[in-house]
Amino acid sequence: MKLYEFQCKEIFKKHGIPVQSGFLIHKNNEVKNLTPPLVLKSQVLVGGRGKAGGIKIWDGNTDVSKIINDLLTLSIQGEKVNAILALEKVNILKEIYISITFNRGKSTPILIVGTAGGIDIEKSAKLNKEKMYFIEFDPFLGILEYQIRFVAKKINIDNYLEFKNIIRAVYKIFKEYDATLVEINPLAITPHGLVAIDSKINLDDQSYFRHEEYFQKLKEEKEMIKGKKDSDVSKFKEDTITYVTLSGNIGLISDGAGTGLLTLDLINDFGGKVASFCELGGITNSEVMFKALQMVASNSSVKSILVVLIGGFNRMDDMAEGIVKFKKEFKKKIPIFIRMCGTNEEIGKQLMRNENIPVFNSLNKAVKEAVKKVTEN
Ligand code: GDP
Ligand code: MN
Repeated sequence: MKLYEFQCKEIFKKHGIPVQSGFLIHKNNEVKNLTPPLVLKSQVLVGGRGKAGGIKIWDGNTDVSKIINDLLTLSIQGEKVNAILALEKVNILKEIYISITFNRGKSTPILIVGTAGGIDIEKSAKLNKEKMYFIEFDPFLGILEYQIRFVAKKINIDNYLEFKNIIRAVYKIFKEYDATLVEINPLAITPHGLVAIDSKINLDDQSYFRHEEYFQKLKEEKEMIKGKKDSDVSKFKEDTITYVTLSGNIGLISDGAGTGLLTLDLINDFGGKVASFCELGGITNSEVMFKALQMVASNSSVKSILVVLIGGFNRMDDMAEGIVKFKKEFKKKIPIFIRMCGTNEEIGKQLMRNENIPVFNSLNKAVKEAVKKVTEN
């Protein structure tokens, strides 16, 4: 999960990384009594806001409400700007790049520090490779003093202690929040010390179970910014369900992405079209199955539902339980077709037969029936 800059900065502040003071301007709230100079920054999850015109400096000589309104009508790489972070303007002497992420090839965390921070980091990193320093470190030992000293010297940091504290805090955040990336670009050298001008944090979705409340809070903030629930492509609860809305009239649920895509193709081959595609994602349970059915059925275009399950770790009796619960509780009656195999297959199938839910051994047959149901009327 990607976080907005304002969310990252709250975390930074809590961990002692210096950030500019500021406040959030939301689409619907009127702002008064602003004092210049301010940096007005579009809150979107894509990068390169500066280049796209999403960051404006207000020096007090122009109409600030016009700047705000212009930003709020902007789209950056297809993402609408619904909120602006207003920050005190900082006097930047030099920009530095810092991040911690994983070197997946070597299975280690890695600290990346460069002298060429700023909006052209990708370009400058390619051009002056020698100016970026990649420090792999042991996750148990953390970043060692000599490693921080090494980069601090390379990029000519005057105040080593200040720099060290920031690096240590970045790693603390990386570890504590189960992040896959914590980035400061740029970290500014200012006349009053170092300031994290921009911040980016990506959290590992797989760590949801360790930070349930926290993920929920961040998600709510996101929905507040967007002004709507994530509905088109969204991740539900434990972020294991992936839900995509398409333009047809069949609901499709699978317990794996590969199976799901294969079935999607088969549905097309048989002349059908999918309206909602839901992938349960990995190891799951009856509750998740039930929720997935609810999600798919809540799309009013869905006239039949096809559930395709291959029970490896997932137990088919467990999945069947979720399906039965849905059939009993969901008011609108939508025909459901099941193809299941694998662990506890026989018990699962029996549960389906008990409820008169058509269950198939052959994937082709199940697809055919689900398509037939929507084409015959
Ligand atoms: P990004 O374009 O999405 O990466 O947004 P950033 O927050 O990194 O801002 C882009 C650029 O705007 C920075 O690299 C700075 O050069 C500039 N900028 C942002 N805030 C300030 C500020 O307070 N003072 C000055 N002088 N420049 C700033
Ligand atoms: Mn930036």
